[in-house]
Amino acid sequence: MVNSKYPAGSIEISCVEVWREISDYLNGEISAELRDRMQAHFEVCKHCTAVLDGVRNVVQLVGDGRSFPMPHGFSQRLYKKIRER
Ligand SMILES: [Zn+2]
Repeated sequence: MVNSKYPAGSIEISCVEVWREISDYLNGEISAELRDRMQAHFEVCKHCTAVLDGVRNVVQLVGDGRSFPMPHGFSQRLYKKIRER
C-alpha cells in the first residue's frame, strides 16, 4: 500500500479523495492511517456519509465479500447526484 500521496502532516482529506478511496475503504484495502482519516471525515461530512451509505448498499447487493468493479463514471454520477441535493 502506497501512502506517498498522503504525506505525513496532511491530516485533512478532501471529499474527492474520500470518494476515490471509498470502495477500497469498504473492502478494507486501505492503510489504517487513511481509514482513520476517512472515518474522521465521515464524522463531519454529511455528503460523504451519504455516499458511504449508498456505496455500502451497492456492496451488500453485490454481496459475498468479493470486490466489485466500480462502473466507469460511477464517481462522476455520484458527484452529480450529491450536487443536485
Ligand atoms: Zn466529505
